[in-house]
Amino acid sequence: MSKITIAIDGYSSCGKSTLAKALAQKLNYNYIDTGAMYRAVTIYCLRNDIITDAKVDYDKLLASLKNIEVSFGYNTQTKTSEVLLNGEHVEREIRTMHVANNVSAISSIKEVRQKMVILQREMGKHKGVIMDGRDIGSHVFPDAELKLFMTAEDSVRTQRRLDELSSKGEYHTFEDVKRSLQKRDHDDTTRKENPLVQAEDALVLDNTDLSKEEQLEFVVKLIDDLLLTKDEFLKPVAKH
Ligand code: C5P
Repeated sequence: MSKITIAIDGYSSCGKSTLAKALAQKLNYNYIDTGAMYRAVTIYCLRNDIITDAKVDYDKLLASLKNIEVSFGYNTQTKTSEVLLNGEHVEREIRTMHVANNVSAISSIKEVRQKMVILQREMGKHKGVIMDGRDIGSHVFPDAELKLFMTAEDSVRTQRRLDELSSKGEYHTFEDVKRSLQKRDHDDTTRKENPLVQAEDALVLDNTDLSKEEQLEFVVKLIDDLLLTKDEFLKPVAKH
């Protein structure tokens, strides 16, 4: 069966990566977490005093961009690709609240986005890829065969994020996490460069009341139907 490109966009902590990872394993596709790429750049900036309290030293960032290399390595234990910053495994460090509270300031910068989008297009050029983020269906792969726009109620997203953080030993109040999510969503939807928008041809998936299994089943069925019609469409016309 021919392979397609699947773009998953949506708000923070609404389960994009959970769905994308499960789909990638099921379909044997590559999974690219583009949020992890912006988070890795943010770590570099935090470590090198390019960003402090979400204020960016723009000139220093531009001068440093050439020294920031983001790539992915496949983790055979988690069976997923994980982000590397200049070859260093930073998957754990990128998930902290500190990084979450600074990443939108970094991802709003045009030159950072340009650099990440070139890498993303390169990684997805052979199809058979699932990419999640904010601008995948609207900007990175506008021709993706399947575009999903995910959302869920704020309180559900906050609880999921809180659970994720506490499972890693980071404890915050519900209100702090909710505020952080809402601020990030606001910054990501209102920025000038490729903001988070729902692509016109994206299907909206509100998973407030869906379990992970129900959500996966729904999307797998969607993809099966799509691939069937696509392959039908691609069949050579019989010669008489
Ligand atoms: O998906 P995740 O929450 O890890 O994304 C972290 C941040 O990276 C987002 O809040 C957003 O600022 C940025 N991002 C982006 N474009 C993408 C993916 C993520 O601007 N395609």
